[in-house]
Amino acid sequence: MSFNQLGLSDALLKAVVKQGYKTPSPIQSKSIPLILEGKDLLASAQTGTGKTAGFTLPLLQILSEGQSLRKRPIRALILTPTRELAAQVYNNVNSYSEFLDLRSTVIFGGVNQRPQVATIKNGVDILIATPGRLIDLQNQGFLSLANIQILVLDEADRMLDMGFLRDIKKIISFMPKQRQNLLFSATFSKEIKKLASEFLHNPMTIEVARENSTVDVIQQKVYRVAKAKKTGLIIKLISEGNWKQVLVFNRTKHGANRLCKKMISAGISASAIHGNKSQGARTKALHGFKNGTVRVLVATDIAARGLDIPLLPHVINFELPNISEDYVHRIGRTGRAGASGEALSLVCGEERGYLRDIEKLIGLKLPTSIVEGFEPDPNAPSKPVKKQQRQSRHSKARKTGEGKNTSEQSHKSRRSKRHRNRYRN
Ligand code: AMP
Repeated sequence: MSFNQLGLSDALLKAVVKQGYKTPSPIQSKSIPLILEGKDLLASAQTGTGKTAGFTLPLLQILSEGQSLRKRPIRALILTPTRELAAQVYNNVNSYSEFLDLRSTVIFGGVNQRPQVATIKNGVDILIATPGRLIDLQNQGFLSLANIQILVLDEADRMLDMGFLRDIKKIISFMPKQRQNLLFSATFSKEIKKLASEFLHNPMTIEVARENSTVDVIQQKVYRVAKAKKTGLIIKLISEGNWKQVLVFNRTKHGANRLCKKMISAGISASAIHGNKSQGARTKALHGFKNGTVRVLVATDIAARGLDIPLLPHVINFELPNISEDYVHRIGRTGRAGASGEALSLVCGEERGYLRDIEKLIGLKLPTSIVEGFEPDPNAPSKPVKKQQRQSRHSKARKTGEGKNTSEQSHKSRRSKRHRNRYRN
């Protein structure tokens, strides 16, 4: 199958060639013709499958063929759960529409609304938004959704996990009933099916498996190490391996900052990305990481969601997550698009309980080794941290929930159950 066979216009094909894409991914070959036919879609596809181009290319074609209205009312809305994902989708929309007369913009919270309002006022055809800021601007009368022809819900399952259901319903109520709806979700949970039944009209269903299943392609390794020697070990691994692009996970914002400083002192360029960083700082860190000027990106779990970093060779868990499902999300950042990747975890005595929980979840015993000079502390608690203690830590983590998405934290237990089922199957 080639892009030429999908019914896309020359302007879009030119943009695709410019991106360097040779053949459409499975989700693209399936979704593009159906969307061009005007069908509603319920698509299961995760990040890394090429889903963004899968909905963006046909959406751009439909809009460019449609009636051009002088004032450019918003005709397509793409809703995403996080600002990082919104920014990423916007970049894609921008690239793919380079040779078309269409305008797009992105809005999300955490930054000044004034420039966003000004851009919308000038007229945009496509709006990419997170639900909170969209409702804010709608309530203030700065935008109208009365001309929406196409609605895309991207990563709908995560929007539900983050407690956006009410917001989504409210946003939909501002739109005309006659419109095309595209729902993309990593899973088809009961909640997603319910949402789909409420607002999709005779949808076509597409399911595309991830190119690699997390636990199969990724080489996972555990280093047992004393807590106090973790920094030394991570610096040794990165330096001696001469690794150029490493994503490191830390449980806390302060821990991420501390580690980042120590890396820099050791001569390894590093940036931290977490909920306390401004949007500008996050974008800058991510940009540096992608273009190779920053070798190590130290991230917390919440900040890392929605980051699009293709073909990442190394992921290191400086600390194991206290929620096992986060481990699967973290290591899913390596080995994208068929390439193999390596996920290392530095585990000290008190984290052994977390390790056991993770191994139970993924159904694998992870190979463990010790590096000379970085041995585990014999005085560290030898038993795994008791469940009760872990739970109280868990609730503490919830209470101190990072960033503004506390609702995301409070939905974790429901998510846990779903994910456990997913990764067992
Ligand atoms: P997504 O799943 O939309 O987040 O896309 C994952 C990555 O795949 C992005 O970096 C895209 O630029 C890239 N991509 C999308 N479609 C293709 C394609 N047909 N061929 C090669 N790369 C692609």
